Amino acid sequence: MFTSHIQNINAMRKINILLSLFIFSVSLFAQEVKPVKNIIVMIPDGTSIGVYSAARWFKYYNGMGKNLHIDPYLTGTVTTFSSNAPIGDSAPTGSTYATGVLQQSGNVAIHPEVSDNDLFPVDGTRTWQPAATILEALKIEKRKAVGLVVTCEFPHATPADFSAHHYKRSNYDALAPQMAYQDMDVMFGGGNGILTDDIRQHFKRNGTTLICNDRDALLNYNEEGKVWALFGDKALPYDIDRNPDKVPSLAEMTGKAIQLLSKEEEGFFLMVEGSQVDWAAHANDAAAIIHEFLAFDEAVGKAMDFARTNGNTAVLVLADHGNSGFTIGTKNCPGYDKLSADQLFGTVSKIKLSANGIESILVNTKPGDIKAVFKEYTDIDITDEELQTLLSSKNYQEGDYTKVGTSNNMIHNIVNIINSRTCFGFTTGGHTGEEVLLASYHPQGDILKGHVMNTEVNSYLQKVAGLDTSLQELSDRIFVKHDHVFAGMNYSIDKQNPDFPVLRVKKGKNRLELKAFSSVAQLNGKPFNLGSVIVYIDKNDTFYLPSALAEKL
Ligand SMILES: [Zn+2]
Repeated sequence: MFTSHIQNINAMRKINILLSLFIFSVSLFAQEVKPVKNIIVMIPDGTSIGVYSAARWFKYYNGMGKNLHIDPYLTGTVTTFSSNAPIGDSAPTGSTYATGVLQQSGNVAIHPEVSDNDLFPVDGTRTWQPAATILEALKIEKRKAVGLVVTCEFPHATPADFSAHHYKRSNYDALAPQMAYQDMDVMFGGGNGILTDDIRQHFKRNGTTLICNDRDALLNYNEEGKVWALFGDKALPYDIDRNPDKVPSLAEMTGKAIQLLSKEEEGFFLMVEGSQVDWAAHANDAAAIIHEFLAFDEAVGKAMDFARTNGNTAVLVLADHGNSGFTIGTKNCPGYDKLSADQLFGTVSKIKLSANGIESILVNTKPGDIKAVFKEYTDIDITDEELQTLLSSKNYQEGDYTKVGTSNNMIHNIVNIINSRTCFGFTTGGHTGEEVLLASYHPQGDILKGHVMNTEVNSYLQKVAGLDTSLQELSDRIFVKHDHVFAGMNYSIDKQNPDFPVLRVKKGKNRLELKAFSSVAQLNGKPFNLGSVIVYIDKNDTFYLPSALAEKL
C-alpha cells in the first residue's frame, strides 16, 4: 500500500517534470530571436549574487565609480544544476550551456548515465555519446572563427565543456588533445605544462602560432591565422597577485581575442571565463573573490563596448553555479544596520595579495618577522595566539614539529585570521544551489530574460546562432559509434598506447586509421582532416566519429 503510494507520487512527479519541460520548450519556442553574426558567452565561474554586491560596494568605497560594467545588461536569473543533482559542478553546468544536455558531475559535453536521482528524464540509449557544442556547431555549420579565453589551465572544466568530450573532467590526456585538434582560432589561458609533443607538432602542421609566457608578444600579435597564448605551467595567477608587466589581464586577453576573431568575415564565437572567482570562493578568500570578479567585469566592459559599436554581436554573461554562500554581513558582526562602510569594506580594501599569495611569502619568512610581513600585506595586527597558529601550520617547517600532524595548512589559518576581521560570511567551501545572475545583450533587443533554466540558455544560443541543424542532429552526424559507421567492414582497435587507442578499418585495398582524440585521420597512409574530433570512450570501448567516414572506403 505504502509502496504503491510512493510509486504514484513518483509517477506524478515524472508527469509534472515532463509537463514542465514541455512548458519550458513552448515558452522558449515562442520567443523570436534574430540571428547575429558574432556571439560572446562570458562565465564568471562559481559566482554567487553576493559577489556582485560586494564588488560593486568595493568599487564605490574605493572611489572607482558606483557601477559594474555588467549592470546595464542584467536581465534575469538562471537555475543551474546537473542531471542528477540540484547543486551543480562546473563540468556538467558549463556543458549544459554548451550543449543543452544535462549531465552528471565529471561529465564534459557528453550524454550522462541514467541515475536513480535524475531530475529530468535521461535518455539511456545515448549514454557516453559526445554532445556537440555550440562552438563546434558554429565552426562546422557556419564556418565562424571560434575561440576561448580563460585564466585556468586550458583543459579545465569550463573551456573543455565547449571544445572537448569525456565523462571525466580530470582526464586531461583525453581533453587537451581534443582542444588542440579542434583547430580553434584563438585559445588564451594557462597550461604550458600540459602541452605534449604531439600537440606542438599539430600546431606546426595546422599553422597555429604558439606564444608561451610572453604578454607583449600576445598583445602585439596581429598576424592572420590561429594563435594560442598560454601563461604559466597550469593556471594564471589570481588577478590580485598578477604582475601586470608579465601576465595579461582577462580584459586584455578578451580585447585581443575579439580583435583577432572579428577579422573573420563569417563572424565568430568566443567564450570568456573568469575561471578563478570559483577558486577564491572555495578558499573563502574575500579579497581574491572581489578582485577576480572585478577583473572579469573589466572583460565584460570590453565585450559590451565591442558589441554596441559592432551592431551584429550578442553577448550572454552568466555564472555556472554559486559558491561558498558568500554574504555581506555575518553573525560575527552584530547590529547589521549600524555597520559602517568602513567596517564592511575597509579591511578587504587594504589586502594586497590573495591568501595563497600571502602563504607563499610567509612559508619562507622567519618566525620573528611574520607579524610584520602579515601587517605589510593585510594591514592586520595579528595576536600572539594567531602567530602561534600560523607557526603550527602543516606546511610551515619552522613550527613546533610535534604539532605538525594536527595543524592545517597556512593558507587555511591566514583566511581564518582575515575573515575574523571582516563581516563577510561563508557557509561552505563548496558550490551552492541558488540561482545565478544573467546578463544579455542583443543588437535588436532579442535578449534572454526573466528566470530561465540552464538548458534554455543553450536553446537561446542555438537560436541566436541561426543554426539550421540542431546540436543533437549534429551530434548524430559527427559522433556516431564506430560499429554503426563501419558495420559489415573489417575493423580492429589497437590499444598499444592505452591513452590513445587507434581504430583500423579495412575494405578491399583501402586502409583507414583513426586515432583517439584527434581530428586528423589516415587513408592509405595519407593524412586528411575530419573537421571534428574523434572521441574514444573506454567504458564501452567505442569510437565516436563522423558517419560520412564510411564513404571514404
Ligand atoms: Zn564552476
